[in-house]
Amino acid sequence: MIQEYQIRVMPQVAYNEENIKTFLAKEKGIDARTINHVRTLKRSIDARHRDIFVNLKVRVYINEMPHDDAFVKTEYPDVSHAPRVIVVGAGPGGLFAALKLVELGLRPIVLERGKDVRERKKDLAQISRTHTVDPESNYCFGEGGAGAYSDGKLYTRSKKRGSVEKILNVFCQHGASTSILADAHPHIGTDKLPKVIENMRNTILSCGGEVHFQTKMVALETDGNKVVGVKAVSTYGGGQQEKTFKGAVILATGHSARDVYRHCKMRISKWKQRELPSVCAWNTRRNSSTEYNTTTKTVVANTFRQPNTLL
Ligand SMILES: Cc1cc2nc3c(=O)[nH]c(=O)nc-3n(C[C@H](O)[C@H](O)[C@H](O)COP(=O)(O)OP(=O)(O)OC[C@H]3O[C@@H](n4cnc5c(N)ncnc54)[C@H](O)[C@@H]3O)c2cc1C
Repeated sequence: MIQEYQIRVMPQVAYNEENIKTFLAKEKGIDARTINHVRTLKRSIDARHRDIFVNLKVRVYINEMPHDDAFVKTEYPDVSHAPRVIVVGAGPGGLFAALKLVELGLRPIVLERGKDVRERKKDLAQISRTHTVDPESNYCFGEGGAGAYSDGKLYTRSKKRGSVEKILNVFCQHGASTSILADAHPHIGTDKLPKVIENMRNTILSCGGEVHFQTKMVALETDGNKVVGVKAVSTYGGGQQEKTFKGAVILATGHSARDVYRHCKMRISKWKQRELPSVCAWNTRRNSSTEYNTTTKTVVANTFRQPNTLL
């Protein structure tokens, strides 16, 4: 039998399954020996009063074991031979865009100007040790994006843009604790975040996608008024190599890439408005893209599409 209960317990009970079982046995009159498992579904701390309590919603498995995983798994198919989409930036926006592409059966080619999440740590150490900042590998640039070395609070102000549960489940699938599914203020933790990011990259690679570090997009490659790829400069392994990546483009370059936005502004002003039918922006806070009609200045679609022009 499976029962769900809303309970209010002391912190020393809330974070220990055996203590929750004992509490439930006493409060709800259940034989403790029949409780096989307790899954916490929601957890919030009430610290408004002198005595701190934790409100829990728990699912109790009596005389049976859970048959489902604690999180919902996403299937990522092999996309080695699928059409390519260039994703510029491996911050949260870029990584989630790449995973969504895989889910949709498209092959992401991720370009990241900075280094991978482990190598990047060394450049961060140099900032405090020698006060030298690598312009391409720092707190803002590098795999994992701007917040990779913060404490990984999963925070969004947006309430009306759909459920964030999918995002939390994808994080769990890549090594985050399932407590993020229950906590009112979920938190991955600075120590765990780099490993989670590496696992996300490994999913992209194992499905046939590509991730190119130290590869900076320097220009959009166009054919008439259509974006057909990007030009990039790679410094991976030393030296400088110019590269062109063909395919539809998602720019997930975050707040700090001013060079990218200057370039886009310059390119767009060269196009006549009526020649630019739509632009698409991958939205970090939502698992979708938004397509705007630049002429009427209205939102055309809020679902993921493979557009021909992406900004
Ligand atoms: C110090 C700090 C702490 C933070 N802590 C939190 C937190 O705890 N919780 C929270 O919710 N938010 C936090 N944030 C905010 C959060 O980091 C951002 O909202 C989030 O990173 C935005 O994701 P993004 O993918 O859109 O952009 P970004 O994270 O900025 O990622 C953009 C990526 O694109 C790459 N890039 C840029 N230009 C190019 C180019 N030309 N070619 C190739 N690659 C390129 C960059 O190197 C970068 O990796 C924090 C931000 C900072 C700065």
